[in-house]
Amino acid sequence: MIGNIKNTKSILEKYQLRAKKNFGQNFLVDENILMKIVEAAGPDLETGVLEIGPGIGALTEVLLQNFCKVLAFEIDNNLFSLLEEELKEYKNLKLVNKDFLKVDLEKEFEYFSDCKRVIVVSNLPYYITTQIILRFLEEDYRIEELFFMVQKEVAERLVAEKGTKDYGSLSVLMKYRSDAEILFHVSRNCFLPRPNVDSAVIKLKKRKVDLGIKNENQFLKFIRNIFTQRRKTLVNNLLQTYGFSREKIYELLRDGGINENVRSEALSLEKIAEIYKGIFEAPN
Ligand code: SAM
Repeated sequence: MIGNIKNTKSILEKYQLRAKKNFGQNFLVDENILMKIVEAAGPDLETGVLEIGPGIGALTEVLLQNFCKVLAFEIDNNLFSLLEEELKEYKNLKLVNKDFLKVDLEKEFEYFSDCKRVIVVSNLPYYITTQIILRFLEEDYRIEELFFMVQKEVAERLVAEKGTKDYGSLSVLMKYRSDAEILFHVSRNCFLPRPNVDSAVIKLKKRKVDLGIKNENQFLKFIRNIFTQRRKTLVNNLLQTYGFSREKIYELLRDGGINENVRSEALSLEKIAEIYKGIFEAPN
């Protein structure tokens, strides 16, 4: 099994490789955590798994043994060659040597045509965590559940409730498009090299709350815009981005029974949707 310190070190030595910081390479070297992730994802031989950043293949190998197929995207050419060699015995693996953010997912999904269900499992490269999560939540793919290892602080922002310091546009978007929960925490000591932060494994279950929004993209932008300046009030954020008259915004807030000095972090998803619709989608 690849996933322990001794094997990880010896595989890296064998291929004369070192972890690359710019690709966010912190390899998971704790077999218990590997097993816990796979258990949480629900081993099932009719389910296909998409993995981003297989690294030296520790998680990939356990996934291959517990699911029907694995489609893995690795950006690093050296790791890609290593994986081809180390995992060559597995016939249910498709490795793709590409930047995940640039792949045509629609097309890649054909690999899963004979799988009943598709899930995503990944120890994410931390420098693009948000972009990857947004890609799955903002676009419609045939995926219902996603399991990600992310930095603990990011995990806390993803599941934050209104009125807390971690609550921001990402938390609101999560509530709109998924049920997000932290499954368990993972110490920084479980990685090689050891990062400066602890991590957490999260589960996202995709869903869409029906808030009667007509223009989805405009609403998603609105969520981002009202949190641009965290120290400013909602009104000031709106003035800055949209250039409405102060009077018009006050009037809209008054109509919706919302205090003029409210800050965005005090607003629930539903309230944000109400304000958005009042401004952009109200019948004339
Ligand atoms: N899955 C391995 C593990 O658990 O030990 C490695 C996880 S490591 C945190 C992140 C991996 O993502 C690295 O292998 C890195 O090379 C890869 N990676 C970084 N950016 C990527 C990108 N844009 N597309 C695909 N893979 C990427």
